[in-house]
Amino acid sequence: MNVADSEVVAAILSDNYQIMTDPKSADLFLMNTCSVRDNAEQRIRKRLRELAALKKRNPQLIVGLLGCMAERLKERLLSEEHILDFIAGPDAYRTLPTLIQDASDGKHAFNVILSIQETYDDIDPIRYDGNGVSAFISIMRGCNNFCTYCVVPYTRGRERSRNPKTILHEAQQLIDKGYKEVTLLGQNVNSYHWNEEDDTIVDFAALIEMVALLSPQLRVRFATSHPKDISDSLIEKIAKHENICSYIHLPVQSGSDRMLKKMNRVYDSTYYLERIAAIKRMIPDCGITTDLIVGFCDETEEDHQDTLKMMETVGYNSAYMFKYSVRKGTKAANDFEDNVPEEMKARRFDEVLNLQQRLALESNQRDVGKTFTVLVEGVSKKSDEQLFGRNSQNKVIVFPKANHQIGDYATVTVTRCTQATLLAD
Ligand code: SF4
Repeated sequence: MNVADSEVVAAILSDNYQIMTDPKSADLFLMNTCSVRDNAEQRIRKRLRELAALKKRNPQLIVGLLGCMAERLKERLLSEEHILDFIAGPDAYRTLPTLIQDASDGKHAFNVILSIQETYDDIDPIRYDGNGVSAFISIMRGCNNFCTYCVVPYTRGRERSRNPKTILHEAQQLIDKGYKEVTLLGQNVNSYHWNEEDDTIVDFAALIEMVALLSPQLRVRFATSHPKDISDSLIEKIAKHENICSYIHLPVQSGSDRMLKKMNRVYDSTYYLERIAAIKRMIPDCGITTDLIVGFCDETEEDHQDTLKMMETVGYNSAYMFKYSVRKGTKAANDFEDNVPEEMKARRFDEVLNLQQRLALESNQRDVGKTFTVLVEGVSKKSDEQLFGRNSQNKVIVFPKANHQIGDYATVTVTRCTQATLLAD
């Protein structure tokens, strides 16, 4: 989401600034930040300290901090981090030219007002850091779910969806420029909802089909979905259109009903597994990945075992796994005690990690001998003679270059694998 937002920022500033590859020659330094874990914020603070040398060499350099950390800490950040000239929250990017001007005039500037409408839908993002093959399209912003551990509803505001016409326009522009893959993005992407003037409702299932129908050559992905909004009609659309990738990232967070209730995830393990069964029934080859939080408040050994059981039952291809990190202002921080001792969190995390590594390897081993269509994304880091791309299930496959170019579709047969990568002919 931050990559997509930074592309919007680049577009808003494009009349007066261009992207530099060397920060030493920059007049303006912007950092787009994440608040979802404390660790992310600590890394930003470290980066700000490193920037001090750059600013000493060039006192005219303007340093701005964007995104969720600005929204969460507000003006306080300006007094804590003296290197900062201004801060802007995720809904304030249209005001960046004014904020930068104020900062140049020596004022400490900030705008952290959240909007209930802002979607930046009339701005054509500048894809400054992409591979020319895959791009993000932000289709909705914000979240209404208030999971008890999560800071996002406070830093990104309420849910709001973009007019489908502007989404289709952006996707068509990408097709015209030769892009072969789009990822439709939102904090809670499958709760996308748009009311047309004639009261027709466009939901996420309808939207993804519209995007897929633009071109059979365009692959369509999406992130991130909430289990409560994985409807049968969405699964059917994924199954129906070959160019909607057979891949669903479905964050479960915990396998324990007690923890899911405490997290306010609004589903239980039975519901979640029923949705997984529906996915596997309608899209038998679907790649499924997840997010997991280990050591949430009051998590017992039994809750932890439920999570391991859930992982085994689903057989995730991969997972983003985290130890619980308290985020100030959330219900969990206010009302619950972060009472799982650090060593216990670490041990449970290792068990989750080890299990996931085994599941990933087993999943990859099952693909050996299978043939996939891969969208070529780049040259392998290990050899100029090898290319890499992803199959529909979002697995990375490395294969010999032959006559293929970046952006081609290649048909490859997997010959061996590691836990992270499939290797093919
Ligand atoms: S669905 Fe829950 S975890 Fe995801 S962004 Fe919203 S509040 Fe956070």
